[in-house]
Amino acid sequence: MGIVLLIAALIWGAGVVTGAPRSLRWMGIGLLWAAVVLAQLVLPEGAALRAATGGSAAPWLILGGLGLIVAGYRAVLVRLKARARPVQVSGEPQGPFREAELRRYARHIILREVGGPGQVRLKQAKVLVVGAGGLGSPALMYLAAAGVGSIGVVDDDVVDGSNLQRQVIHGDADIGRPKVQSAAERMQAINPFIEVRSYQRRLGPADVDALLAEYDLVLDGTDNFTTRYLVNEACVKAGRPLISGALTQWEGQVSVFDPAHGAPCYQCVFPEAPAEGLAPSCAESGVIGPLPGVVGSIMALEAVKLLTGAGAVLRGEMLIYDGLWGETRKIRVKPRADCPVCRGRGLAEAAPKA
Ligand SMILES: [Zn+2]
Repeated sequence: MGIVLLIAALIWGAGVVTGAPRSLRWMGIGLLWAAVVLAQLVLPEGAALRAATGGSAAPWLILGGLGLIVAGYRAVLVRLKARARPVQVSGEPQGPFREAELRRYARHIILREVGGPGQVRLKQAKVLVVGAGGLGSPALMYLAAAGVGSIGVVDDDVVDGSNLQRQVIHGDADIGRPKVQSAAERMQAINPFIEVRSYQRRLGPADVDALLAEYDLVLDGTDNFTTRYLVNEACVKAGRPLISGALTQWEGQVSVFDPAHGAPCYQCVFPEAPAEGLAPSCAESGVIGPLPGVVGSIMALEAVKLLTGAGAVLRGEMLIYDGLWGETRKIRVKPRADCPVCRGRGLAEAAPKA
C-alpha cells in the first residue's frame, strides 16, 4: 500500500514542478487509484502486484468513496460562496447597483436587448414627465419601476375625485393634494432606489428651458395645446427627444418627436392648435379609463427603448390605438421645411442615410 501512496506523492510532486493545474494532478491520482482497484479485481489471488497493493479492493473502494464525499462537499461550498457574492453585471459600464436592485431588475438584465449595460443607462438617465394625469400616471409608475434613475414630474393641479377613474397613480385619500406630491410618493413606494423631483407649477416660457436642460428626455402627457407647443419648442431648442401622447374618448396616439434624429417635431405634425371647441378636453367629452393606461404605458416603453437603444422607437411614425374597436395603425409623419419651430431640421438629419 505504501508504494501506491509513494507513486501518488510522485504524481502530485511532478505536477507541482511542471506547474500542471490541480485538476490534472487529481486526475493522475484518480487514474492510479483506478489501476490499483482494477488490479485487485482482475489479477488472481496471490499475484505479486495484488499483494504489493494491499491484497484486497475493499480498502481502496472505501478510500475512493471518502475522496468523492470530500470532493462533493468542496463543490457545494464553492457554489454557495459564488451565490453569496453579488452578481457582476457583465460587460461595459459598471453601475453602482446594490444586490436588491439587481434582483429587482433581473428580468430586464436577462433581456438581450437591455442587459446589464442597458440597465445602467436607465439608472443614469434623467427623464422629465410633463403632467401627472391620465397619461402621466402609468408612464411615471413604469419609468419608476423600470429603474430610471432620476424622474422629474411637473403639474400644477390637485387631485380631483373625477380624475380617479383613470389617473391610477393617485388614490382616494389624495383628493385635494397636489398631484406631483401623491405621484412622487407612489413612485418612491414602488421603487426606493430612484430619485424623484416634483415641480408643482404650470410650465411657462420663463422656466421651461432651464428645467429641460437638466433632463435627457421629455414625456408630454398634458391636455392643453399651450403647454404642448411650449414643451415642443423647448425640446427642439435643447435637442431633447419628446415622447408625446394624446387621447380622445376611445382613441390614443403616440409618437417620438426628435428632429435631431430625422423625425419631425410636434409642430410639424400639428402646425396649429385646433379652434376652440374642436378638440374638447377629457372633462368635456369623456375618456374611457383604461385608455390612458395603454397609451401612457406605450410612452414609458418608448422611453425605455430610447434610453437603452433597444429596438426601434416611433420616430417619424405615429401609433394610433382605437380602443373601441381594438385596432392599431401606424402612420408616417414627416418633418416640414416650413415649420416655424424646427425648420424641418429632421429632413437634413435624415438625408445622409438616404
Ligand atoms: Zn417642426
